[in-house]
Amino acid sequence: TDIGSQKDRVVSEEEWLQKWEMGNIGFHKEQGHPLLQKYLDVLLNGKSGLRIFFPLCGKAVEMKWLADMGHSVVGVEISEQALKDFFAEHSLPCCEEPVPEISGAKRLQSTSGNISLYCCSIYDLSSSIVGKFDAVWDRGALVAVNPCDRQRYVSLMMTLMEKNSSCLLVTVSYDPNKHKGPPFYVPESEIKSLFG
Ligand code: SAH
Repeated sequence: TDIGSQKDRVVSEEEWLQKWEMGNIGFHKEQGHPLLQKYLDVLLNGKSGLRIFFPLCGKAVEMKWLADMGHSVVGVEISEQALKDFFAEHSLPCCEEPVPEISGAKRLQSTSGNISLYCCSIYDLSSSIVGKFDAVWDRGALVAVNPCDRQRYVSLMMTLMEKNSSCLLVTVSYDPNKHKGPPFYVPESEIKSLFG
């Protein structure tokens, strides 16, 4: 299939913030994702107390779910509203602090400490700021990244992953000439070549 029609599409950060403001967030699901439930064992590989990364996290309910299992969750999201809604909707007290390494960025953290969400662009992060992760849940992240930024996104993700870590990634398959995205159509062959 030809992804030509989506190749040059760009969704600006401003447009994402507007989606949150307008409540135009059809991508958010109140129920935990069935594929995370199905493949949880593959992701965790029998280990406990993992550091799990949620790129482009929105207010994904799976963050609460994994934190309740004793893992420590780190997310990144440009919309502060999304992050505030996340803590409010789960009645989790949180505190916020600036991130000295990133100008304008904030970190919102559950008081209990095991959910830490960065309000900034993912491209501002590096392993020296957030450390490395044992597991990644990528749902609505690679497929939301602008097609021109895919390589940059994946290269960054590789630097944030520990040697023996795994990433569960959800992609979508449809005719890219019928819908402009996001979510963008990312064929399996492209995922293979991006991650190697
Ligand atoms: N993963 C979430 C949200 C998917 S929608 C879920 O499963 O529900 C994609 C999200 O990425 C939006 O909330 C948008 O505000 C955020 N986003 C877009 N570009 C970003 C960037 N460069 N850095 C961080 N977050 C970004």
